[in-house]
Amino acid sequence: MPTPFSLRGLAPLVVVAFAFKVALAADAAPTYEKMLKIDVHSHIFEDVPAIHALFARLNVRTINVCVPGGDGQLALMDRVAFELYGKHPQLYPVTTTFDLLTRDEPNYATRTIAALDRAFARGAVAVKIWKEVGIEIKNRNGRFILPDDPLFDPIYAHLARVGKPLHAHLAEPIDAWLPLDKDSNHYGYYSTNPQWHLHGKPEYPSHAAIIAARDNIMKKHPTLVVVGAHLGSLEHDLDGIAERLTRYPNFHIEVAARTRNLTRHPAEKVRALFQKFPDRILYGVDAGWMPHRRDTPPTTAQRQGHVTSLELRYRADWDYYAGQGETTYNNRKTDALHLPPAILEKFYHANAERIFQLEAAWRRQP
Ligand SMILES: [Zn+2]
Repeated sequence: MPTPFSLRGLAPLVVVAFAFKVALAADAAPTYEKMLKIDVHSHIFEDVPAIHALFARLNVRTINVCVPGGDGQLALMDRVAFELYGKHPQLYPVTTTFDLLTRDEPNYATRTIAALDRAFARGAVAVKIWKEVGIEIKNRNGRFILPDDPLFDPIYAHLARVGKPLHAHLAEPIDAWLPLDKDSNHYGYYSTNPQWHLHGKPEYPSHAAIIAARDNIMKKHPTLVVVGAHLGSLEHDLDGIAERLTRYPNFHIEVAARTRNLTRHPAEKVRALFQKFPDRILYGVDAGWMPHRRDTPPTTAQRQGHVTSLELRYRADWDYYAGQGETTYNNRKTDALHLPPAILEKFYHANAERIFQLEAAWRRQP
């Protein structure tokens, strides 16, 4: 496991001086254990005591995200997610999603809004929209439905009215539109999920077209709070992220599954983004534990394996965001960001608490 500091090989005197400095800085610099870490992009769809125990030990809380809306599993996901939330309201507040299978039937928006309101009444804190909108589902004329399709406007308007954020995983990393590249962060995914690898498939909307449609939602609904999952699918373009955060005051991003992309940008440039937009960037991981997608039930060893990989991920992330000097991320050396304490507090929890109104969600009695 990478650590930001290594004391090995230092003379004892230096160690004492170092310990003294750490003691002096203790008030200002948050420690990994003390920092409340809210993973706003989690998918846990089984009641696994070892996961609850890990979260308690690491001081992690999640927002548990139901996704997608087009595979017919929405009722099941909602049931499991709200059960977990009922048992552990501080660990598993819920982001729900909406059905896409009945989009051609009458009163789609009215029915969808009613279903979302029922989820909000049970405590859901936000609504997820997934990449299937843009690169999978089509309208009656056989054309891809983009995220700013008028079909969804009444839903977005309703979310803005009731103050619930839209957690938007729209488009994909730019690599989906590029030839497979073994050195890419996303090679493993696109080489094994060819259905989402759109290079050489001109019938699909371009990355730019989907991003423009996503931006158009924010333009049409300026009071809708949008949290762009995965760096808003602009992981390759920090200037493009900054431009949108400037242009759309209702836009935010989270880093789930894209910290590895940040580590490949110059550390000063990533740090500058956090410094310019400290209130707009949220922490997340995007680890999935979804037994309903498996053919056979998971084993105890697999559950434990998931717990172990989660623990490693949270630690490696911390070493990158909070650590100093060289660190290792996914087996590559990179410079840690060493974000100032005030920014770390916002990134790791304060922004999520404000945007998703988590104080109320945590207090809620099932
Ligand atoms: Zn996800």
